Amino acid sequence: MNKKIIYPGTFDPIHNGHIDIAERASKLFDELIFAVAVNSDKSPLFSVEERIAMIEEATESLGNVRACSTEKLVADFAKEENAVALIRGLRHVSDFEFEFQMAMMNYHLNPDIPTILMMPAEQYIHLNSSVVKEVAKLDGDVSTYVPDCVLDRLKSKYKS
Ligand code: ADP
Repeated sequence: MNKKIIYPGTFDPIHNGHIDIAERASKLFDELIFAVAVNSDKSPLFSVEERIAMIEEATESLGNVRACSTEKLVADFAKEENAVALIRGLRHVSDFEFEFQMAMMNYHLNPDIPTILMMPAEQYIHLNSSVVKEVAKLDGDVSTYVPDCVLDRLKSKYKS
């Protein structure tokens, strides 16, 4: 059986914390699918197509990762893909309450699909996409936090 796991999120843009989780999960499952949220409340900087392209470039070497967009509930998307689980990153205790609520709601929507919460390596626990964009916008160095394909796109977004 091909065991697929879904990694849902906004990924605006993907950063090394997301990639750390994807690397670890891709070793545990046969296939990992990034489900990029179209209807994000976060007013994304990058289009869905740009976010998918960055994810695919950044994770190409893993060999069993792909990215798609979805406008559906994650629980429905996972069912359609015949996925066995969802994966989410957990950085701080403060992430836990939100992630716990989402996991419970997803159990309600689809009791067959558990949510796995995974911690990234310590150097990524303070990292999120908003911080990356904020620093890049002010011409700060984010090269240790994002892959080159994201760095290049951030530079072209913010060049004046
Ligand atoms: P963010 O803007 O916080 O990066 P996303 O919606 O893109 O938000 O996050 C998608 C998933 O990736 C969530 O489960 C989130 O907890 C996880 N994630 C975000 N940042 C990190 C990080 N630095 N390390 C591990 N997981 C992360």
